[in-house]
Amino acid sequence: MYHSVAEVTEDPYRLTVSPGRLDRQLRWLRDRGLRGVSVGALLRARALGRGAGLVGLTFDDGYADFRWDALPLLRRHDCTATVFVLPGRIGGVNAWDPLGPRKPLLTEYDIRAVADAGMEIGSHGLLHQALRGADPVTLERETATSRTLLAELTGRAPDGFCYPYGAVDTRSAEAVRAAGYGYACAIDAGPLTGLHALPRVHIGAADTSWRLHLKRALHPLRRRPLPEEPTVQATSAVTTGGIR
Ligand SMILES: [Zn+2]
Repeated sequence: MYHSVAEVTEDPYRLTVSPGRLDRQLRWLRDRGLRGVSVGALLRARALGRGAGLVGLTFDDGYADFRWDALPLLRRHDCTATVFVLPGRIGGVNAWDPLGPRKPLLTEYDIRAVADAGMEIGSHGLLHQALRGADPVTLERETATSRTLLAELTGRAPDGFCYPYGAVDTRSAEAVRAAGYGYACAIDAGPLTGLHALPRVHIGAADTSWRLHLKRALHPLRRRPLPEEPTVQATSAVTTGGIR
């Protein structure tokens, strides 16, 4: 889980990775026979039993720096990624972060160029609102309306959604499914973990080679594997005496 790719100066939310660091992180993957791909491509490969060696890469918020600082590096390392954008803030700034610094977001033209370059465009909602506990009108707008707007912009309805702040509950996950998304990204693993609440690992500016080794080694312990069936089946498996 990445956000902004730029030289790191003021960064209170730890959202920024420098292009040099991203370059080294992508090389680290490649040196281990791993390849970064969009989440859509990862899930399609897994469905065919060909997911080994693939790592899903996501860039949240749709910062304008993706086009000029991340995209060339991804292409150089033969990677793709999913960029989660906010159709209600296209060409705007990250006004939802009270501490700043303000960063420009991708324009319509940029988003089409990023899609044309082979990257997956997903929805991060309309305005970057936390959806946990949100009312039905907000849920509909942030999930269904944002999907319609992105379909108009790119010519293709997005398959992926990403919960702002990773905040997911049963109703928001249901709204995402009802809006037609095939998958959704959260952050932490939890009771809703599954295709519509995929956990992710934060990757930041401090993630040098040894920290990536550590994150990879801890990954199976910190994240439950994607269950075959979502929560209902998992719960009954527990009550019948076995957590696999
Ligand atoms: Zn975000």
